[in-house]
Amino acid sequence: MSYQAEYIWIDGTKPSPLVRSKTKIVGDGKEPGIWGFDGSSTNQADGSSSDCVLAPVFVCDDPLRQPGDKLVMCEVLLPDMTPHPTNTRAACVAVADKYADQEPWFGVEQEYTFLQNGRPLGWPENGFPAPQGPYYCGVGGDKMPGREIVERHTLACMQAGLSIEGTNAEVMMGQWEFQIGILAPPLIGDQLWVARWLLFRIAEDFDVWATLEPKPIAGDWNGAGAHTNFSTKAMRGDGGWDAIIAGCEALGTRVDEHVANYGVGIESRLTGAHETAHFSTFSYGTSDRGASIRIPWAVARDKKGWLEDRRPNANMDPYVVSRIITETVCSAAIGS
Ligand code: ADP
Ligand code: MN
Ligand code: MN
Ligand code: MN
Repeated sequence: MSYQAEYIWIDGTKPSPLVRSKTKIVGDGKEPGIWGFDGSSTNQADGSSSDCVLAPVFVCDDPLRQPGDKLVMCEVLLPDMTPHPTNTRAACVAVADKYADQEPWFGVEQEYTFLQNGRPLGWPENGFPAPQGPYYCGVGGDKMPGREIVERHTLACMQAGLSIEGTNAEVMMGQWEFQIGILAPPLIGDQLWVARWLLFRIAEDFDVWATLEPKPIAGDWNGAGAHTNFSTKAMRGDGGWDAIIAGCEALGTRVDEHVANYGVGIESRLTGAHETAHFSTFSYGTSDRGASIRIPWAVARDKKGWLEDRRPNANMDPYVVSRIITETVCSAAIGS
């Protein structure tokens, strides 16, 4: 029987791109091939020459439809088959290839917020819920709105075969996290975008909007980040500590460039409060959740492992973030 393939891509909306998708019925035994769309409706082309190309880059089972149906993550190409200007994956692939011998790996902690009727899920119509404190990894009563969606999303990611590692409720009521990894670029980006698509799509069924907004509520409420955990072969191996410190030092040489590529609205989130370091500063430290880069305690104990860049926003593009971290850390390692 023919099957349904949901083609997923990243659009050209500014300042933060949106994820889009449409369905193709594919014949029995056939692969989901090249397809196209109207780029003038996605901020990716003029009406006069509107055709954009969808080229599949990652295919997995679609857990929301019938057995045999697929999710097809795509990159966007111009009709001459070169990367579209909005295609951030192509540059990620180039850097991943260049530094493949250092074996860069990523694990991303994707935080997000459920919204309903214009406010975080479970929040009272007027005013605020009880202050932050009981919600992070909390359980019970009306404190944990959205858990049903989280459960559905986790199972969907597992059934799709994605490398989902865990989930937790976050510090602000209505805010949650899932982790994807440990994967090399560009696969970390492919899988994170598919996991995001599944989240948005499943939340639809609950009349809920899952948003990657970095600071959904101003004031004394945590923002939403995408802590990006990174290692190279040298960091993971015995004596990796020196490579980890060298990586932190390298990241400290290109602070503004990294922050500018870590998601729109990062100034609103990296204020220096709420477990963040101010966007204009740079620091690294063991177990320090107020540092730009945290070295987890187990890594400090073992003297090998990975580092956690705590700066990327929830709305970051993982193709961009994995590219720039790989570029900065791995080029410095060659030079040293
Ligand atoms: P925390 O909330 O304490 O910061 P999490 O458990 O949410 O930590 O996330 C830890 C992340 O670290 C996971 O995404 C995991 O993939 C990642 N990670 C673990 N080991 C490595 C490694 N060697 N290289 C890169 N990432 C790693
Ligand atoms: Mn986490
Ligand atoms: Mn978190
Ligand atoms: Mn973290």
